[in-house]
Amino acid sequence: MMDKQITLIKNNDKKDWTDLEWIREFYEFMQGENPDSIKTRSLDISKSDAFLIIWYLQEHFPVLPDNIEKCDSCSELFDSNSEGYYSEDRGTHFCECSATEEYYIDNQ
Ligand SMILES: [Zn+2]
Repeated sequence: MMDKQITLIKNNDKKDWTDLEWIREFYEFMQGENPDSIKTRSLDISKSDAFLIIWYLQEHFPVLPDNIEKCDSCSELFDSNSEGYYSEDRGTHFCECSATEEYYIDNQ
């Protein structure tokens, strides 16, 4: 299955998650939303910085699949293999939210 490329070294929570679910949890964790099993202080990383870290783990130190993109309108993550589109003109990614380029909001 293309939506499960991540290979875990261990899976303490026995979660049967798609790549999108794992990366979305990591994205939210970096922004301060800890999963129930993580009892540490919360991080406070911006959406754009959090996705820059994900991008590093996709492109430079490739442990995460690079088909997970951040919508440049609503900032939600999505699997570009199954939804959304890429605007070559602007170099922007959009999920299936109501956004179109006319409603483009720069969240950076
Ligand atoms: Zn969106």
